[in-house]
Amino acid sequence: MRKHQLIVPLALLAALSVPAHAEDRDISRDTLPANDGWAAYGPGTTGGSAADDAHVFTVTDRAELVRALDGGSDTPKIIRIAGTIDANTDDDGDHLDCADYATDGYSLKKYLAAYDPRTWGGAKPSGPQEEARQASAAKQAERVVLNVGSNTTIVGLGSSAVLKGASLQVKNAGNVIIRNLELRDAYDCFPVWQPNTGGLGDWKTAYDNLWLTGATHVWIDHITASDKGHPDAKEPTYFARNYLRHDGLLDITNGSDLITVSWSRFADHDKAMLIGSGDSATGDRGKLRVTLHHNEFESVVQRAPRVRFGQVHVYNNRYAIKDDYRYSLGISVESALYAENNAFHTPGHIEVADLVKSWNGTALHQTGTLFNGYPVDLLAIYNAYNSGSERDLTADVGWTPTLHTKIDSAERADREVARGAGAGRIP
Ligand code: CA
Repeated sequence: MRKHQLIVPLALLAALSVPAHAEDRDISRDTLPANDGWAAYGPGTTGGSAADDAHVFTVTDRAELVRALDGGSDTPKIIRIAGTIDANTDDDGDHLDCADYATDGYSLKKYLAAYDPRTWGGAKPSGPQEEARQASAAKQAERVVLNVGSNTTIVGLGSSAVLKGASLQVKNAGNVIIRNLELRDAYDCFPVWQPNTGGLGDWKTAYDNLWLTGATHVWIDHITASDKGHPDAKEPTYFARNYLRHDGLLDITNGSDLITVSWSRFADHDKAMLIGSGDSATGDRGKLRVTLHHNEFESVVQRAPRVRFGQVHVYNNRYAIKDDYRYSLGISVESALYAENNAFHTPGHIEVADLVKSWNGTALHQTGTLFNGYPVDLLAIYNAYNSGSERDLTADVGWTPTLHTKIDSAERADREVARGAGAGRIP
């Protein structure tokens, strides 16, 4: 298998359809610049830049991508994605839909009939329909979960590379770069009913577009992640709860550490970015160090990000908030979020106090925040408006970021991010 032999014709193809923003230089051996966020700590992040020529792959479908990923091996490798790759395909490249995965008699209609809280009650689903759901979900996972090993760079070629339906996972691996790629619609065919979540029960979905779990030294740059094609707002409610199809856009959990997320676009989604999965995950103490800069969160309902434990530097991001909204910055247990020069745009009914929400958090450092063009102090307003059920937050998060490149004014970042964040926009 010598996929790199395809590089020349594909590069030519990409060059023929060059839009204004497409890079005309090869980015595949780029490494994270010095000081560019937490992923620059220590040895920095070099991804697959040391790959030999036999480990530079250009891939155009799922089967080629899976071969290049090599079962998550740690051999230095560069994977260039050309065009659109659909993860929901069989080995012949034919599309698989949810009905193709359903097995052992699973049907949503029967599942809903079996576990209706009015007849089933509040117990965890069990029995034939739940077993059939699990078997069906396993068939989908086998196609859509793609593991990325250490010392890997994945880049999109040109300005229109898309990986759709996949859950890309960096699991107990390190030194990974993912750039210039649209990650679209990590759609779960088989959500599970969890009667005991949040008092009313909830539908739990399996897939994040990108999941970093036990991952260290990861640079995510110029990606676009969204639910494009299947907005959860259009899904029905079952058991009086929204039947969500998507989990996070980019979740960072389970001791992941030293991560930089830059110039990326997170859009049209409910729970965008979870940093730290649970209050009891005390193994995350001292880890989950993440930098988010020059990203755009557009039409995101919540978690942009929600943080537990980690030292997280959030600077120069742009928030374009739409009507369906809960909060942006989530302050949870032992989090140390340092927010600088971020710009928020909201519809009229959303107020400054809505931007921050705390669950057992104690601190938030913020400076230079712009709200619809006006300077505001998120912390003072949060403390003034919170209902009293939650204690005030202090400004002392116990650290000051040192690993960063130039920090722009919020005004400038707002303009630059609107123009330059996301896949296909590397200058
Ligand atoms: Ca998740």
